[in-house]
Amino acid sequence: MTLDEIPGLPHPACYDDVCSRLRCEPRRFLVTGVAGFIGSHLLEALLGLGQSVTGLDNFATGSRNNLSDVLGRVGSVAAARFRFIEGDIRDPLACGNAVKGARVVLHQAALASVPRSIEDPLSCYSVNVDGFLNVLLAARSADVEQIVYASSSSVYGDDASGVKTEGRIGNPLSPYASTKLVDEIYAGVFERTYGISSVGLRYFNVFGPRQDPAGPYAAVVPRWLEKLLSNEQCVAFGDGTASRDFCYVDNVVQANVLAACAPESGHALFNIGCGARITLLELFDALRKGVAFHQPSAANATLRFDSPRTGDIPHSLASIVRAEDELGYVPSHDLARGITETIAWYASRELRSSVRSVTRGTTRASEAGVQS
Ligand code: NAD
Repeated sequence: MTLDEIPGLPHPACYDDVCSRLRCEPRRFLVTGVAGFIGSHLLEALLGLGQSVTGLDNFATGSRNNLSDVLGRVGSVAAARFRFIEGDIRDPLACGNAVKGARVVLHQAALASVPRSIEDPLSCYSVNVDGFLNVLLAARSADVEQIVYASSSSVYGDDASGVKTEGRIGNPLSPYASTKLVDEIYAGVFERTYGISSVGLRYFNVFGPRQDPAGPYAAVVPRWLEKLLSNEQCVAFGDGTASRDFCYVDNVVQANVLAACAPESGHALFNIGCGARITLLELFDALRKGVAFHQPSAANATLRFDSPRTGDIPHSLASIVRAEDELGYVPSHDLARGITETIAWYASRELRSSVRSVTRGTTRASEAGVQS
């Protein structure tokens, strides 16, 4: 029985009601990409709601630290409801094993970066498209009730509309964007061919705790926060006037839970953003001011400008009307609240790691018999 069939729950249902119903009627979810940024937040929320979760990940870009962080936060009783499978979504057997007993699939696993996809389009295709097909086929064999999958605002490509609405997209501008578009096409085909219902969520720029700040493919928010907190130079690609609809990760979790419990509606697509946009220059200013509370030198930080990156969309702003009307989506975090919570997390992480390195230094010094 899906939640909408339970008498007394209006549609769209409000998020609190959906959470209460889930607590009363727990189920098993499969979260692919569970060790990644968004997957680990889904895990934390679902275990917190009393659900059982199977997680599938091959640690291509996710980490064991994300999993141990979540399991430490939810406590041992909730952690016992988590089953982890280390495996690759390109392996049909791993997908078949992972989906056993699951009523809902939240598919997040992907190689998620535009520049990475330009450097290595084949790997991007095999994970994001072949892997997605394996997950769909496994879900079909296991009679899963609902599949929710991560699509992306990148599918809007060169569409020139100021506000992106689900019915109108442009040409994809990167291999990554084209894989997400192909996924949407296949999800529609699976509905028409096999009657498999699914919901695609076109995430706009998601940010929040546990997003990886390291490496050449890091997203802008964690990359700049890490630099500001360690007093290093921040770099912008382009002149900083590009704008984005930055969406805090809790909003994305809410959208997944709502979509998981929505009435089966064939194949549906929703934008998931905040419905507001800021330029990169404005983002930098907000991050700099927020970080200055923790690291005063950040107040004077400046940006260095580098050439724009191929494949990046100049402006992106979500219409979230469809998600509001049909899913009951109401973002809990606007940009300001999301930024404050994110900065607090990265600042405490920075503090923890400097305490660790001081402690390690002290231990090494005492092991070596060095007097301080
Ligand atoms: P992430 O890189 O943190 O998480 C992806 C996870 O998938 C990682 O844990 C990784 O190890 C795993 N993975 C990769 N290849 C795999 C494979 N072959 N088999 C099993 N696991 C594999 O990225 P994220 O930001 O959490 O993104 C999650 C999803 O949301 C992705 O599908 C991404 O395309 C989509 N998305 C993200 C954003 C954003 O702003 N973060 C925006 C739009 C769409």
